Amino acid sequence: MTTTDESTTGTHTTLRGKVALVTGGSRGIGAATAVRLAREGADVAVTYVNGKDAADEVVRAIEALGRRAVALRADSGDPDEAVGAVGRTAETLGGLDVLVNNAGIGVLGPLEGLALADVDRVLAVNVRGVFLASRAAAARMGTGGRIITIGSCMAQRVPGPGGTLYATSKSALIGLTKALARELGPRGITANIVHPGPIDTDMNPANGPYAPGQAEMTALGRFGTAEEVASTVAYLAAADYVTGTEFAVDGGHAA
Ligand code: NDP
Repeated sequence: MTTTDESTTGTHTTLRGKVALVTGGSRGIGAATAVRLAREGADVAVTYVNGKDAADEVVRAIEALGRRAVALRADSGDPDEAVGAVGRTAETLGGLDVLVNNAGIGVLGPLEGLALADVDRVLAVNVRGVFLASRAAAARMGTGGRIITIGSCMAQRVPGPGGTLYATSKSALIGLTKALARELGPRGITANIVHPGPIDTDMNPANGPYAPGQAEMTALGRFGTAEEVASTVAYLAAADYVTGTEFAVDGGHAA
């Protein structure tokens, strides 16, 4: 039983009693999402590969909100680890209600410069890992289960060259999400995809090499924040009658 006073922690109760797993939750959009889901009342597991210290910091931030949290080292590109993280979450936190498929990598560059290893790695992390984690999660979820996948504005609109591999991986997730919605709907489990636009993170810093021009491609003329994506994920984690849909949190990048 938590003794933390919600009036002092700023937490809510929409996800009270729920357990969430956020892949790639040590930094960026995943870290913001993990904390946001905890703020809504969920206990949360996060996965990471290299950032143990950062993941531990996310755990401490969640525990400070009066929720339980655990950091799991699990490479989404490794089939056993992608599936294993789902089982470890359920065993450690007592079930699984919300899966956020956030872990993703980008390899950008001219088509002819992409090595076979790049193709395999990006598809393994961004697509196969999501497929396997979603299947493993669905097997454990009951009515009210939620699968929320982080896609990309590049799945909807590719504004220039160099994005073939990344866009391929992210657009595959649209089909996966719709098919999951159809397959799992009868069990009361929803599946949705969120497409971030340019979001200021380590992957795409607002002052980084790929930043120039990105803000101008949005209707709002700016990068978004990880918290702005996290708030849509939190909405979907609680929404009952929304499934199979794409949510652009992209400042109007696709407009
Ligand atoms: P970051 O690179 O800032 O953070 C990535 C997170 O994922 C880290 O916690 C990292 O952990 C983890 N991670 C990386 N590879 C793996 C892996 N193989 N298995 C498990 N975890 C992994 O990325 P963002 O927060 O920017 O991106 C999050 C998601 O949003 C991605 O799917 C990305 O494609 C998508 N996105 C981002 C946009 C942006 O502009 N930022 C735009 C559109 C989509 P570790 O600590 O081990 O490095």
